Amino acid sequence: MDMPSDHLAITGQDFSDYLSKRCPGLKCPMCQATENLMLHADSSDGPAHLLTTPVHVGGGAFQLGNYFITCLDCGHVILFNAHRIEGWVRSNKEAAGEGDANDE
Ligand SMILES: [Zn+2]
Repeated sequence: MDMPSDHLAITGQDFSDYLSKRCPGLKCPMCQATENLMLHADSSDGPAHLLTTPVHVGGGAFQLGNYFITCLDCGHVILFNAHRIEGWVRSNKEAAGEGDANDE
């Protein structure tokens, strides 16, 4: 599977931590459900599922990466830009002094 090389490995737990810190009042924007919002990841220790979409701009293209949640009540899918989450996780881990923040 081709993963864009500039993506950091985000776990289900990282994504969940991000959501509780940055989106404490998270609810489905369509049906307003606050429960039954499914975070997509293999497991809390496993990778969060990354949805990539090619975006064509002028003469070029890039892969837009998103981590996502599905509302199990109405089916609405909520996308979060992967780079925003990765940046947050990276600076959080550095702040927490977790060693392996290996900036190339
Ligand atoms: Zn919904």
